[in-house]
Amino acid sequence: MGRREEMIAKIKELMTQPERIRNMGIAAHIDHGKTTLSDNLLAGAGMISEELAGKQLVLDFDEQEQARGITINAANVSMVHTYEGKEYLINLIDTPGHVDFGGDVTRAMRAIDGAIIVVDAVEGVMPQTETVLRQALREYVKPVLFINKVDRLIKELKLGPNEILNRFAKIITDVNRLIKKYAPDEFKSQWMVKVEDGSVAFGSAYYNWALSVPYMKKTGVSFKDIVELTNAGDIKTLRQKAPLHVVVLDMVVRHLPNPLEAQKYRIPHLWRGDVNSDVGQAMLKCDPQGKIVMVVTKIILDKHAGEVATGRVWSGTVKTGQEVYLISAKRKARIQQVGIYMGPERVNMEAVPAGNIVAVTGLRDAMAGETVAQEQIEPFEALHYTSEPVVTVA
Ligand code: GDP
Repeated sequence: MGRREEMIAKIKELMTQPERIRNMGIAAHIDHGKTTLSDNLLAGAGMISEELAGKQLVLDFDEQEQARGITINAANVSMVHTYEGKEYLINLIDTPGHVDFGGDVTRAMRAIDGAIIVVDAVEGVMPQTETVLRQALREYVKPVLFINKVDRLIKELKLGPNEILNRFAKIITDVNRLIKKYAPDEFKSQWMVKVEDGSVAFGSAYYNWALSVPYMKKTGVSFKDIVELTNAGDIKTLRQKAPLHVVVLDMVVRHLPNPLEAQKYRIPHLWRGDVNSDVGQAMLKCDPQGKIVMVVTKIILDKHAGEVATGRVWSGTVKTGQEVYLISAKRKARIQQVGIYMGPERVNMEAVPAGNIVAVTGLRDAMAGETVAQEQIEPFEALHYTSEPVVTVA
């Protein structure tokens, strides 16, 4: 089996095990490093195909250059990450960063169960950090924190270790103050981020390194090592000793909930229908045997496939040929292609079960936010269709 076939087989296996899935997003104030982090996580996890990477598999293989911009127009990118000997399917769903797109941000937040909040170590918590954190918490999305651009504290600001730690402490305090303010009551203390348990990581998305307390304990790499390597300009060793994707994706797997856990508490808050109905119960349990309920997060116009709708499957199993209702559009549609993501690429599958991010064709003129279901149910969101369909062109 080639590398591609092996990866497809792996994803096929993981998509049927919801405990091994994490649906997450990255949210930040503008310029704090969301794009750089997304691209470099994808590259680090080895999910860029040779075609996309331009077949540049030579010795000076520069993942960062090859990854730049790949995640920016994607509705979702998936990564496979090994944590404590087990593999996980991590879906990074696009959450629009701009505050003006409030509706889109909320919609994307619905599809994810957890989020990495990125804060620039130099600037600290900024107004949009508060906005995105508030939006996440309002949708019952659990946060973890990544303090970015730490290289600048070392090299440009020339801060000593104590001053750097003080900066981290201030950012963590500010973020926890916001979590306390906006988190649902039952999660206010549980969701506070802590350095000791690894729900906080810090590093440099640009230079591809990161650290967390659990990683330092496990590997013996210290902050002193990082400072020395940064000052020496030895980025290569830095990346090897403290790889960004390992530290950050370990944090995601360890601290963000899987769909089985998350749907139990999220569905009663996100959906206004009767949770005691069959379909309500199927969503609470993330049941692949239940009736299909899916919410579309983004529509992309694909040169070959036409309109591709990406969304979160809350219950049931999405299959080719299935007839579904577009609840807000008040009409029926038939699902044609069904796919799942491998890196930024769509791979066709016969069926995709609850808990996953699916890409389908056949939902003619559906809009982002649409609830797609096998029976007439309460929609997740009331949408107002105009005569012109809204599409995002990739
Ligand atoms: P976004 O607006 O949050 O998506 O931010 P970008 O990822 O586009 O980053 C904004 C700018 O900060 C770009 O010029 C990046 O190259 C730079 N940047 C991102 N991460 C780091 C980092 O860890 N260190 C440094 N020095 N620059 C960074």
